[in-house]
Amino acid sequence: MERLPIRPHTRSRAARVRTAALITLIHVLPAWAIINGTGEKDWLLFAAIYPFQAIGVGVCLHRYFAHNAFKTSRWFQFLLALFCASTFGDPIRFAGKHRLHHLNTDRENDTHSPGQGFWFSWLGSHIDSRYTDEQICAQVPYLTQYPELMWLHRHSLAPGLTLCAVALLLGGISGMAVGVLLGAALLIHQSSAVNYFCHRFGRRRFQTDDLSTNNFLVSLLVFGEGWHNNHHRYPVSARAGFCWWEIDMFYWVICLWEATGLVWDVRRPPEQLRRTRLLAT
Ligand SMILES: [Zn+2]
Ligand SMILES: [Zn+2]
Repeated sequence: MERLPIRPHTRSRAARVRTAALITLIHVLPAWAIINGTGEKDWLLFAAIYPFQAIGVGVCLHRYFAHNAFKTSRWFQFLLALFCASTFGDPIRFAGKHRLHHLNTDRENDTHSPGQGFWFSWLGSHIDSRYTDEQICAQVPYLTQYPELMWLHRHSLAPGLTLCAVALLLGGISGMAVGVLLGAALLIHQSSAVNYFCHRFGRRRFQTDDLSTNNFLVSLLVFGEGWHNNHHRYPVSARAGFCWWEIDMFYWVICLWEATGLVWDVRRPPEQLRRTRLLAT
C-alpha cells in the first residue's frame, strides 16, 4: 500500500493533550476497575448503557448525522445526539470529519486512511484529524443550523460527564468505569477497526474509487458497519448489508424505529446494487 503523507496539525498542542488525556483515562479507569474486581452492578450498568452508546456511534453519528440515511423529528434528532454524546461524541465534528473521509477516501487529504500509517488511522486522527473546526463545520451546514447541536459541539463532554456522574452515584467508581467509560473505549476501537481493516482487508463488491472492503469479521464486531465497500458505493443508504447474509444489526434498529413512526423516508440501496455479485479476487 502506498504510504500517504499526513497533513500538518490544526489543533493546538493543549487541545491535543486534552483529547489524548481523555482517551487515556477512558482506557485506564476500566482496566483498573477490572483488575481490582468488578461486581454484578457494574456489568448491569454496562449492559444497560452500551447498546445506546453503540447505536449512538453506528446509527446516529454515522448513518444519520453524517449521511442523512433517514429523516426524523427535531426532538428525536436531539435524543439521537445525546446517544452520541454518551461516548463523548459530537455529531457536528464527527459528521463533518466523516464527510471529508468520503470526499478524500484513501488519498492524501483523507481523515484516517491506513495509507497514512497504523497510528494515525487508528488513534491519531481521533486526537487531530488535521482539519480546522471551520473546515469541518463547513461540511455540515444542515446540522450547524440547529442551536442545540451547536451547543453540543461546544460542550461535547457535558452529557458524557453527566452520565458518568449518574453511574458514579449508582455504582461508585467501578460502576462509572465499566458502565460508561468501557463502552466509550470499546467504541473507539470498533470505529477504528472499520477505518483501518475495511480499507485494507476483505472482499469488494464494487469497483469504487478507493480501497474500501466488505469485512465479515469487522461487521460482526461492529454490528453491520463492516460492509464498508457497499457503504462507499452507496453512502446515503440506511442499510449497509446488501444481501441476507450480510448481517446488519444497525439497520434492524432503523427498521424498528421506522415501524414505530419515530423515523421516516429511510433510504435503501437500489435493487440492482443489492444484486451485484462480489468481484473476483
Ligand atoms: Zn471508509
Ligand atoms: Zn460513511
